[in-house]
Parts: sequence; structure tokens; C-alpha cells
Amino acid sequence: MAKVLIVADLKGAEVRKPTLELLTKARQEGLAADAAVLGSGVAGIADLLAGHGAQKVYLADDAALEFYSGPLYLGVLAEAAKQSQADQVWFSVSETSKALAPALAGRMDGGYINDAVALKIEGDTLEATRPVMAAKVLQKVRFKTAGLKVISFRGGAFDLEEAAPKTADVVKLSTPEPDPRVITKEVIQEETGEVDLGEATTVVSVGRGVKGPEGVEFVKPLVRSLGAAYGASRAVVDSGWMPYNRQVGQTGRVVAPDVYFSIGISGAIQHLAGMSGSKLIIAVNKDPDAPIFSIADYGIVGDLFKVVPVLIEEVKKYKQ
Ligand code: FAD
Repeated sequence: MAKVLIVADLKGAEVRKPTLELLTKARQEGLAADAAVLGSGVAGIADLLAGHGAQKVYLADDAALEFYSGPLYLGVLAEAAKQSQADQVWFSVSETSKALAPALAGRMDGGYINDAVALKIEGDTLEATRPVMAAKVLQKVRFKTAGLKVISFRGGAFDLEEAAPKTADVVKLSTPEPDPRVITKEVIQEETGEVDLGEATTVVSVGRGVKGPEGVEFVKPLVRSLGAAYGASRAVVDSGWMPYNRQVGQTGRVVAPDVYFSIGISGAIQHLAGMSGSKLIIAVNKDPDAPIFSIADYGIVGDLFKVVPVLIEEVKKYKQ
């Protein structure tokens, strides 16, 4: 039976949802799955991963692994892949996976497919689907290698099923000596207190239609009432109305929430590249011919400054 090693994507000492989606997918496919956890103060995650189906959890819990370091992480992960005897390694797409996944494939003389949104397994053949050319084209890709198959998947590619808690079968891994050439000393994170775009089940994004920073503030109560993450088009970010880390699209974040609200966004192809995987798309635009309506499940043609207060009122009523 095929064996997959799933590399946990962590935010501090917490595991991000896409990792649990990958464990769910492995379970649904009837694959034997192990997990690898690399970090500092992360031992507590092992049981959660076991609960979602990880048979063994390869754990490297070491202060030296607090921050991502290429040579260190690669050494530990290659050891986990070897011990687990996995023929596939799955990552969820992240800044770390972009560096680590191809490096692992190279180290293990295997192959690498990045940014997949679906996987078909037929016997020994894996066929991954990946959006390319700003999501205008879906490409189906297969491995030629008989060696290790490394795949990274976009968050939201698979559904998450809840699972019962379980005590993990932990295999502890040691960390090699730090590579003195590269040491990450500190990671400075912006503390916005807002919901992270990559984690959110609901995203509200605004475009140039909000007209300025006041318009961004105007939509905020809707974002809050929905418990959503706040995103933006590039036009908004380039105008300095919202910071870059809020940009959704080809050159921003790729999101796939359950619900995506597009408010005053035209729907340029580069924006769609970042949100077309959303399960339900609701668009508000005063132009009935705006391209966003071609992919929206629900479209409201109207002035956002009139529509948004109505939406806020409806959310309030629904909550009551
Ligand atoms: P506009 O295209 O100006 O649209 C504003 C919309 O608001 C219009 O449809 C208008 O009808 C509507 N509107 C105006 N007033 C109201 C109102 N009162 N009520 C309701 N609706 C109203 N863009 C991204 O978003 N993300 C990216 O990552 C990205 N990467 C890019 C990469 C490259 C290489 C290039 C060339 C471009 C990229 N872009 C990206 C830019 C992209 O092409 C568009 O220019 C951008 O998405 C437009 O943003 P917008 O829809 O907010 O603005």
C-alpha cells in the first residue's frame, strides 16, 4: 500500500488547517499516512495529528528549529521520509514549502509537483491538477519518477473532516548541528489581531470601488460581523489603502474559503487567480458587465455604499 508522509504546516505551536485537510484526504483515499512535525515547543501537536489519521508522528522538537532554516529542516525531513519509508510526501503550500519541498525532492532523487488543487490516484499512478497561467488553465500532471513523489497542495483543496482525539505513536528525530552559514535570529510578525487570510473560512475583499481608505473602513463592520478575514485587490494595495499582506491574487495570497465576498472588484484575471477556488462567491458591483459576475455564484448589481449596510443588517438579523 502506498505510504504518504504529511509535513505539518505550523504557526508557532499550532497546526494550520490545510495540514488536517491533507490527513483527511489520505484517510479518504485509504492511504497509510504518517506526519512530520518540525519546530520548537511543538510536541503537543502530535496527538491532534494522530486523531486525524497519522499512524506515526516523526517529531523534531528542538530550539534550533524554532525558525525555518533550509539546511537544518531538509536534513531532519529527509531522515523522517527515510524512516517512514513513504513513497509520497505532501505539503500544504506555504513560504516554507516553496523552499523545502523541491529541496527534499532533489535530495531524495524524486520528483516534485507544486500548487496542486486535486489528486487522482489510480493504482501507482498519481495525477495532480494545478491551476496555471493565472488560473486560466488547469494542468494535469503525472510523475515520471519511480522515486519519492513530493506534492504541495493549496489550502482548501480538500475538505476537512473532524476526527476523534488519539494518543500519537511518536518517533523522535534528532536535529543536526546548525549550519553556521545561515542563522535566522528573529522573525518579526505584524500583529494585526485580524483573521489570517489563509486560515479564514469567510473572506471579504474590497476593490477600487470603495474609493479610498474611508471606504475600506466602511466595509469593516461587515467583515467583523461575519468573523471574516479582510482582503483586497491589488488596486487597493497599490493605492496604499490596505497593506500588501491583504492582497489576494496572482501576486498576492491564494485563498480558497467557504465563502468569498468581492466588493467593488472588477474581477481581473490576476485577481481571480487568487480566489477562484472559493466554494461560494458573492459579488457586489455596480457594473452588470463586470467580469467578476462570470464566476460569482451570487451577484448583486448595485452601489456598494448602499448594499453593504443592508448585508450588515441581514447578518445581524440572522445572528439574532
Ligand atoms: P478596478 O478594475 O478599477 O475595478 C473596480 C470595480 O469597482 C469596477 O468593476 C467598478 O464597476 C466597481 N465599482 C466602482 N464603484 C462602485 C460602487 N460604488 N459600488 C459597487 N461597485 C463599484 N490584481 C489583484 O487583485 N491581485 C493580484 O495579485 C494582481 N496581480 C497582478 C499581477 C500582474 C502582473 C498584473 C499586470 C496585474 C495584477 N493585478 C492584480 C491587477 C489587476 O490586473 C487589476 O488591475 C486589479 O485587480 C483591479 O483591481 P480592482 O478590481 O479593485 O479595480
